[in-house]
Amino acid sequence: MRLLSLLHDLEVVTRPVHPETRAALDRRWVELPEAVRTPAQALGQHAVGCEGTHGVFPRCNLACTPCYHSRDANRVAVSGSHTQTEVAAQMSLLRTVRGPRAHAQLIGGEVSLLPADDHAAALQVMIDHGRQPMSMSHGDFDYDYLRDLALGPEGKPRLKRLSFAGHFDMLMFGRRGIERPADEASLNLYRQRFADMFKRLKREHGVRYFLAHNMTVTPRNLDQIAAVIRDCKDYGFGLFSFQPAAFLGDDRRWHESYRDASGDEVWAEVEKGAGCRLPFRALQIGDERCNRTTYGFFLGQTYHPILDDENPADLAVRDTFFRYFGGVSFSGTPLPLLTVKIARVVARHPSLLGWFGGWLARTVRKAGLGNLLRHRIRPVTFVMHSFMDAADVAPAWAGLQAGRDSSDPRIAATQQRLLACSYAMAHPETGELVPACVQHSVLDPAENIALRRLLPLTPVTGRSAASTRPGSSV
Ligand code: SF4
Repeated sequence: MRLLSLLHDLEVVTRPVHPETRAALDRRWVELPEAVRTPAQALGQHAVGCEGTHGVFPRCNLACTPCYHSRDANRVAVSGSHTQTEVAAQMSLLRTVRGPRAHAQLIGGEVSLLPADDHAAALQVMIDHGRQPMSMSHGDFDYDYLRDLALGPEGKPRLKRLSFAGHFDMLMFGRRGIERPADEASLNLYRQRFADMFKRLKREHGVRYFLAHNMTVTPRNLDQIAAVIRDCKDYGFGLFSFQPAAFLGDDRRWHESYRDASGDEVWAEVEKGAGCRLPFRALQIGDERCNRTTYGFFLGQTYHPILDDENPADLAVRDTFFRYFGGVSFSGTPLPLLTVKIARVVARHPSLLGWFGGWLARTVRKAGLGNLLRHRIRPVTFVMHSFMDAADVAPAWAGLQAGRDSSDPRIAATQQRLLACSYAMAHPETGELVPACVQHSVLDPAENIALRRLLPLTPVTGRSAASTRPGSSV
């Protein structure tokens, strides 16, 4: 009896896709607007979407133009216990709705304003809820902070792997040593220093890491994108993400005519930096007007996308991947367990070896065997994420809440994008998940006013904190 139960548990653990993930994927697929339910769509076929925190540490000590946070964000004190409590509540809802595995961003505000112990505790809460957390930072902190984050009180790593997104661009003011960057190139030293801290941490303490590079794009720095990629591609970033600026958040920080740079122009500059066409239609995450993504790798100076959206053989491999491996958590599963899961799929469908063998042979041929022997493979993903303007999001969201499709083509398009959103934030007080655009356009202002009362910069005595909790009716 005991043996039978053990075998049953083993079967469940090694099942390629967790049943709750399968259910969450199926729900996601059904809820997507029909126009985005294409063979390339990753949401609902392979992934549930990315997640982010909100209202957990809204404050930041740099000034971005634009800044997506409301004007009260910087009037909220940073509190480790508040962060942990709120992160736990938000992750719990995400775990229920989105299933046991997902990527989630620990995002404020500036994460390094949290004491290192509180930052580590918040990451652990996310991990305990099955999330793969990424800390979103401006990167203006010292190695000591990083070391204190990674190591426990006994000097042993408390987190085996750290994942950080460093936000660097010339539209941010107040960075130590370069308060007002003249151009993007002058920030390269700071980008490199940031990446080097993680190399050192790995060397000295064996803590692995993944680094993303985030950059807001406006007409002012559009023509510097390519040089940023060319100059910084060897620093150790595994992902370069570009965000065309939107009219969102604090309107005192809107300084340019952001819409003068189109998504196509931004992507063309990213391609210039990568040195090749970046096919983004092989894999789509949500709506193409929100996200473009190309997965690939550098061999020496040359970038090689792993799927070509104009090659039918590559598209057939993608379809096969979604069909047989859709929902398998590749990055969130320990290697031995992942190997068993993959083996179970292949054992049932041996023809997969031919499909993926063919793709591998094509990729090796394109990259060149000699190059593969000479150079180390450096996986790098290119992303463009285009937030929407608050003026469009507010009426679009109000319509969706009321069950009304807008007759205004612009607002209708916004509604479609919100319904296909790939970046959700959780509201435990209502049980709702909302797109990050909605969070920043509609919900942040009231939330930060409530947080300002709950966590005043100068502590106020004689006030009931519970009565000013965000989501309470004050
Ligand atoms: S947060 Fe906004 S821009 Fe990003 S995927 Fe969601 S709806 Fe699209």
